[in-house]
Amino acid sequence: MQLAGKIKPSPYGPETISLNHGLHFTGGEPFLNYELLCKAVGIAHELKIPSTFVETNCYWCVNDELTRDKLQLLKERGLNGILISVNPFFLEYVPFERTERCIRISQGVFGENLMVYQLEYYRRFKELGIKDRVSIKDYLNLEKRGDFIKNVEFFWMGRAAYKLGRKLGKNFHQYPADYFFNKPCMPSFLRNWHNHFDNYGNYIPGYCGGISLGDCRNLDRLLIEGIRSEEYPVLNFLMDEDLGGLFQFAKDLGYRESQEGYFSKCHLCTDIRKHLVVKKDFEELNPKEFYLHLE
Ligand code: SF4
Repeated sequence: MQLAGKIKPSPYGPETISLNHGLHFTGGEPFLNYELLCKAVGIAHELKIPSTFVETNCYWCVNDELTRDKLQLLKERGLNGILISVNPFFLEYVPFERTERCIRISQGVFGENLMVYQLEYYRRFKELGIKDRVSIKDYLNLEKRGDFIKNVEFFWMGRAAYKLGRKLGKNFHQYPADYFFNKPCMPSFLRNWHNHFDNYGNYIPGYCGGISLGDCRNLDRLLIEGIRSEEYPVLNFLMDEDLGGLFQFAKDLGYRESQEGYFSKCHLCTDIRKHLVVKKDFEELNPKEFYLHLE
């Protein structure tokens, strides 16, 4: 689930959705538990939360009737719109016909409140005449290998830096750790828009998987008391955007810099945290499972 910005009447009108405003239901994949999704949408509607939309990879859109029924019911429960994920990573698992079906039917159900993320991949898939599922290996053979992240938003973070890095590393430059020490987080680590809650109750800054600002069920306490940074040394460095400090802190606990280098600041940050999480039970490094599945 994503909470983007402070809850207030939408400046865009009651029915219009915006990416960084209101409340979004995301995953994983929210349609895996459709009943729960309907319930959550209903609660958000009762609470008059604006700009509600669901994100989906369309795996469930096996025929027109079922797709229309599910979307229509969500709309009746109060959902304002939908964001449809289109990228080569889902294309490995979801036949493109299902994605196209969801886009076509969503246009009818939600009208302008349909976002395709990322539109550039949709355009390329159409241009390449993609049908069914395509493995990432085959997709990369269709594109010039290094080009598949050109003109799109792509974050070298989480598993991408490890798994994709192994497959495609040679097409991208890697840098030593100190190259990133003075680079800012993009967007900034602490921001009052587009943050996330996970299903364990972690309040996650931005897209930074594996970092918890605290328990989202105690938001009031978090807002009133703030984050006691002295109790959370990793968070302290990150809130100051002091990656050099975090690097040194981790080195003192046995971290060794990668000789191959790092694709991005987030890659370095994740790698340091992956080391720290097994050294001590840092409360701000949660959920722990995030770190178990990086490689
Ligand atoms: S460097 Fe770390 S804290 Fe900053 S955006 Fe990347 S993952 Fe988040």
